[in-house]
Amino acid sequence: MDCIFCKIINGDIPSTKVYEDDKILAFEDINPCAPVHVVIIPKDHLLTCADDITEENSGIIAYIFSKIPEIARIKGLTNGYRIVNNCGEDGAQTVRHIHFHLVGGTKLTEKIC
Ligand code: 5GP
Ligand code: ZN
Repeated sequence: MDCIFCKIINGDIPSTKVYEDDKILAFEDINPCAPVHVVIIPKDHLLTCADDITEENSGIIAYIFSKIPEIARIKGLTNGYRIVNNCGEDGAQTVRHIHFHLVGGTKLTEKIC
């Protein structure tokens, strides 16, 4: 599959890993927008963005969120952070493999857009 994130998962594209287990991978964003900017993805390319989430497939999303505190701790985010999912054309999504941006390491802007 011609998916950048699947290539990162299988090692065809190198990345700086922050956290990995059998279900998910977290790695440093190549173009960070904050001092800490980690991309968290499921290893299974099943969902493209939040719009694909259903009651049946949402287990992996719950799992990702259950690991976010640990990933935040790994990155030293002790004073809060922001989680973002860009979805679709109007969401300005560029990689169509569902992912969550974990950003922080500074006081972020109060408005998200
Ligand atoms: P999106 O715009 O789809 O929400 O976010 C995609 C993110 O993936 C962007 O923040 C972009 O910088 C990051 N990205 C794209 N290609 C690569 C890559 O090859 N390696 C890494 N580490 N991040 C990437
Ligand atoms: Zn993929």
